[in-house]
Amino acid sequence: MSKVYFTPINSYSNTKEINSASKKLIEKIQNQEKILDFRKNTPLKVHFGEDKNNTFIEPKNFIEIIKYLKKNKSKTFYIETNVLYKGRRTIKKDHLKLAKEHAFTQIPIVIADGNTGENYKEIDITKHKTKHFTKCKIGKKIAEQKQMIVLAHFKGHILAGFGGAIKQLSMGCASRGGKLAMHAQSKPILNPIKCKKCHTCEKNCSVNACIIDTLIPYIDYSKCIGCAKCIAVCPFGAVQVNWISTLPKEFREKLAEYALATQQNKKIIYINFLLNITKDCDCHSGKQKIITKDIGVLASTDPVAIDKASFDLITKRNKGKKMFKGEDIFNYAQKIGLGKTKYKLIKIIN
Ligand code: SF4
Ligand code: SF4
Repeated sequence: MSKVYFTPINSYSNTKEINSASKKLIEKIQNQEKILDFRKNTPLKVHFGEDKNNTFIEPKNFIEIIKYLKKNKSKTFYIETNVLYKGRRTIKKDHLKLAKEHAFTQIPIVIADGNTGENYKEIDITKHKTKHFTKCKIGKKIAEQKQMIVLAHFKGHILAGFGGAIKQLSMGCASRGGKLAMHAQSKPILNPIKCKKCHTCEKNCSVNACIIDTLIPYIDYSKCIGCAKCIAVCPFGAVQVNWISTLPKEFREKLAEYALATQQNKKIIYINFLLNITKDCDCHSGKQKIITKDIGVLASTDPVAIDKASFDLITKRNKGKKMFKGEDIFNYAQKIGLGKTKYKLIKIIN
C-alpha cells in the first residue's frame, strides 16, 4: 500500500493556501520518505498551458516549492517537452515564448527534447511484461535526470479519460516521436494534396524518408523511424498524425508503459493539483469548462496511487458519480509495475 498525503483547499483563488499546502506536503514527504538528494538537480516537470488556456496551474502556485529547493541548495528549473501537434508549443523558441507569457519566469526553463522534438533517449522496458512497447522515446534532458518533482493538474482528457501524474510522466515526458507512438501508428502521413513541395521535411529528415521529387510525394515507411520532426517543420500542415488509429484503452496502456520508462532509475515526488478541474486538458486553447468544485493538493511517491486517490476524491465529491472515464489504466499500470492501486490517504491540515 502506498501513502498519499492530502491537504484540502476550497478554492483555486487561494494562492497563499495552495503554496502553504505544497510546502507542507513536500516537507512531509521528504522527511518521511527521504526521496530527494539535494546535491542533485531537482527539475520541476510542468505544463505551460496551451495558448489562451486559462485553467492550467499557474506558476505562482509553485513559489514555495521553488523556495524549498533553493533553501536546500538543490538546482532547480522547469522542464517540459514539445507537443506533437502544430501550435505555439511545437518548436522550442515559440514554446519558451509562450511559457514566459504564462509567467513561468521564476527559474530557468529546459525543453527536454530539443528544438523540434528530435533529442530523445530510448529507454528499455523489456524486463516488464508490457503489451505495446519494449523501448520508449523519452525527452533526452528528462531521461538524464536522476530525480524530479512532477507537478500535475488533475483534469479530464478526451482520449485518456483523465490526466494526472501518469499522463504528465508519459505524454508529458516523451519526445515528439514517443508522443506519436502513443497517439497513433508510429509513422506520420504525408498528404500529397496539401504538399507544396517546399522540401523542408526532406532537409530535416535524418533518414531521407521524405520522398518529394516524385509525382505523388510520400513517406518511405521502410526508412522512417517515427521521430515526427517532419510534422513540426512542415509549413503547410501537410504531414499529419493518424489520430484515429488508437483505441482509448490501448492509448491508456501505452501511457502507462511510457510512464514506466520515464520513472525507471529516477526518484520522483508527484504533486497533483485538484483545482480548476476541467472536462478537457490544458492542451486546449480558450476557456475551459470547470466540472467540479476544487478539492486540494496531493503528494506521493507513487504515480498510480496519487492518480487513484485523486480520481476517488473527485468521485466522492460528486456523491459517487464518476466524472471521468479511463479507470482501467490503474490495473494495467499496477500489473506492469508502475505503482500500486491501494493507498493510504493521510490528511495534512494547512
Ligand atoms: S515540408 Fe510539407 S509542404 Fe514541404 S515538401 Fe514536406 S510535406 Fe510538402
Ligand atoms: S519521415 Fe523522417 S522526419 Fe518524418 S517521422 Fe519519419 S524519420 Fe522522422
